[in-house]
Amino acid sequence: MQLSGAIVDGEQIAGAGKLDVLDPATGKLAGTVLAASDAEAMAAVAAAKAAFAGWAARSQAERAAAVARCADILERNSEELARLLTREQGKPLGGMGSRFELGGTVAWTRYTAGLSLPAEVIQDDAQSHVAIYRKPLGVVVSITPWNWPVMIAIWHIMPALQAGNTVVIKPSPLTPLSTLRVVALLQEALPPGVLNAVAGPDSIGPVLTSHPDVAKVCFTGSTRTGIKVMSSAAPTVKRLTLELGGNDAGIVLPDCDPNAIAEGLFWGALINNGQTCAALKRLYVHDSIYEQVCQALKGFAGGVKTGNGFNEDSLLGPIQNRMQFDKVSRLVEQAKSAGGRVLCGGEASGGDGYFYPVTLIADAEKGMALVDEEQFGPALPIIRYSKLDDALEQANGLDAGLGGSVWSSDIARARDIAMQLECGTAWVNKHGGLRPDTPFGGVKASGFGVEFGPHGLDEFVSLHVIHD
Ligand code: NAD
Repeated sequence: MQLSGAIVDGEQIAGAGKLDVLDPATGKLAGTVLAASDAEAMAAVAAAKAAFAGWAARSQAERAAAVARCADILERNSEELARLLTREQGKPLGGMGSRFELGGTVAWTRYTAGLSLPAEVIQDDAQSHVAIYRKPLGVVVSITPWNWPVMIAIWHIMPALQAGNTVVIKPSPLTPLSTLRVVALLQEALPPGVLNAVAGPDSIGPVLTSHPDVAKVCFTGSTRTGIKVMSSAAPTVKRLTLELGGNDAGIVLPDCDPNAIAEGLFWGALINNGQTCAALKRLYVHDSIYEQVCQALKGFAGGVKTGNGFNEDSLLGPIQNRMQFDKVSRLVEQAKSAGGRVLCGGEASGGDGYFYPVTLIADAEKGMALVDEEQFGPALPIIRYSKLDDALEQANGLDAGLGGSVWSSDIARARDIAMQLECGTAWVNKHGGLRPDTPFGGVKASGFGVEFGPHGLDEFVSLHVIHD
């Protein structure tokens, strides 16, 4: 498969560069992108700028109808897109893999088509009329990572369009194929220039994030890159939504039944092979049930099959790329040499592709890199605690603040403890579930701004107040 690396003003444009995309399950070529360079990035911004006035002038109902047509197109093509996603990302077709991601993509798009941008009247009487109106910002740049590439693209694109903005999306060079295909398919529902894509090396990112004609950058990726985005957007005072890295803690209280919570803990941590921003990445378990929870998790892990994503019985696939594979291997090796006890996994699987088995490390402690850094892979450290205050202090002790969870049979108490977690979202007796109608975002180094629902839509407008 060979794809043009730019979709600008409704036209496919082959860039002069070449980007080889690897299938992480085999290490073989999944496809090639004729990659965009700075010139195509500039052309994409120009096309989005030219299309803005016409798109913003459409009625809310017209834009909503176009977004709803996008949902239909995504739904009609979801099996093709799911297969392409598995090819380049590695996640399985089944389970919580590519078909699940495409299902979410359709659901989020359809939900977003139902959102409105109401005017709010503050005062309306003989003295004065004061109202707040919501106006689109202009050109929105979307920059996405490789872990949930289609879903995250849709999370950026759809509210931006619904609110009347035009978009240039730049996918990760590691997973550009499915995004390029999505953008190509969606042209049928949108006027030329309203949605553009440029896939190329990381270096086109700063061209977009510093461009004076870009009003807002919606970035999902690592905290390290988010800091660069923030500084390159600063001279032109752009709006930002930064959805950055996480290192979510889960705290298991002594009143839990280990066997009853094992499945929820497992998938909270291992969804998408742990390559999920708001996955459970550090598990704190009370001393009194520590061994039982470890054994219950190990037992559950034994029944989960890792394999090529095209095998219908695989529930987990390979790690997506070599760099991440090396990072997970390094963190596990360090944890082992610092006294971590391997409950399962612990060594790369060998053979083709970037397969790494589910790895549970007991007797983990703060100070181990596997605990302190975001592993973003299938290795979970399990930390013992005896005092809740100590567990909370450790949970809140890092810079990350995306999600967290508390596990207990006493829901009211768990909710109180969840309130004490420093994060954007905390769950009770589950971890990581998101909804299109509920805001999602981080605090501290996990970023700022929220996505989803009316609060998320508000991030794509400016409030314009008129007193008359
Ligand atoms: P990354 O930061 O390496 O790359 C993300 C994107 O930024 C890619 O498209 C990349 O090409 C682009 N980029 C690289 N350098 C750039 C620059 N200087 N300017 C502009 N763009 C640039 O992240 P990744 O490895 O693709 O993704 C993994 C990270 O993303 C993890 O830390 C994960 O937690 C985070 N993430 C966060 C969320 C969230 O909602 N908070 C969701 C998914 C992933």
